[in-house]
Amino acid sequence: MKTLTGSCMCGDVRYEVTGECREVVACHCVECRKSSGHYTAATATRPENLKLLGDDGLKWYRSSPKAQRGFCQNCGSTLFWKPDSGDRISIFAGSLDGQTGLQMTSHIYSQEKGDYYTIEGDAAQFAIEGAKLVL
Ligand SMILES: [Zn+2]
Ligand SMILES: [Zn+2]
Repeated sequence: MKTLTGSCMCGDVRYEVTGECREVVACHCVECRKSSGHYTAATATRPENLKLLGDDGLKWYRSSPKAQRGFCQNCGSTLFWKPDSGDRISIFAGSLDGQTGLQMTSHIYSQEKGDYYTIEGDAAQFAIEGAKLVL
């Protein structure tokens, strides 16, 4: 099974993922837009598949009643979204290194997207969170 690695921009947070990863889902919700500056795109895996190799800069922010976001407090990169249910952890796809072999297959919270862009392409669009982690 392929091991993916990733990091924040400055390298203070580094991780590897061994195990199944979900295809990439783009999220247009307000929290993702505020935290990233646009919309986000994330894969997801079971929490036990994610190993932190360096977490000096990692800070968690409670962005909603049901989840926290992990980011680097040194460089500001958004890295993780972790629901309290603990069934998965989302990993923002831009933080992955090199070739991932993943595809962006759907868009969620399209009803909250900004008015300054159009969602292009054939990927499915869901007005609510329609993409569950299926492994
Ligand atoms: Zn950093
Ligand atoms: Zn979102």
